[in-house]
Amino acid sequence: MLSQVKIVLVGTSHSGNIGSAARAMKVMGFSQMVLVDPQCEVDAQAIAMAAGASDIALNATIVDSLETAVEDCQLVVGSSARSRTLSWPMLTPRACGERFVQEGEQGAVALVFGRERTGLTNEELQKCHYHVAIPANPEYSSLNLAMAVQTLCYEIRVAYLERQSQVFPQEEQPAYPRHDELERFYQHLEKVLFKTQFIAEEQPNLVMNKLRRLFSRARPESQEINILRGILTSVERRVK
Ligand code: SAH
Repeated sequence: MLSQVKIVLVGTSHSGNIGSAARAMKVMGFSQMVLVDPQCEVDAQAIAMAAGASDIALNATIVDSLETAVEDCQLVVGSSARSRTLSWPMLTPRACGERFVQEGEQGAVALVFGRERTGLTNEELQKCHYHVAIPANPEYSSLNLAMAVQTLCYEIRVAYLERQSQVFPQEEQPAYPRHDELERFYQHLEKVLFKTQFIAEEQPNLVMNKLRRLFSRARPESQEINILRGILTSVERRVK
């Protein structure tokens, strides 16, 4: 299960943080680091901070966009110190750990971290199913990147160990769509809503963001997404 977890760092600018994050991951048993558009190299500073975990930093996958990093993931959780203007389904770090353990048994799952100075953009946060915030001091709530990685990886590990120790068979989890399947559904929905003129071409985002939030809350299963796609196709046929 631990190997299914991707730790995704977006736009990191200090290589030392990449090294420290690698160490934070390895001590908790994680190995898959993904760097999205890093603003630094995995250099000597990164290696020094990683200590015995330099293999994780050196083997990190580097991609251009968050979309690419999480396309195969059925669960994407974005971490953010601030709730911003966006209200989105939230998880506590503990509940986040439990979700990762449940869903990580079925497929790839991703935990996403933002830039040191500016965090994740609203657009990036809207690509996530849930947000997780570490309940820090409200007057100074922003942890160092690697420490946030440490805290949330620890919670997944605790949930993982807890699950290992349970003797009862686990309840069956529903199959959830991959991130890219969900994105294709949103694109299809938008296309149909243009066609029916429910939304205007000039201003699609407002409604689409609300709909994204609605579906993030509902957490549709693969089968349900297939039904919704079928409904959209039937509407398209009639509109033609
Ligand atoms: N100034 C930035 C903070 C960036 S800290 C901001 O206001 O968004 C770098 C990253 O560490 C964040 O993007 C987030 O992924 C993670 N992080 C830091 N503090 C956190 C907290 N209290 N809860 C959850 N994630 C946190």
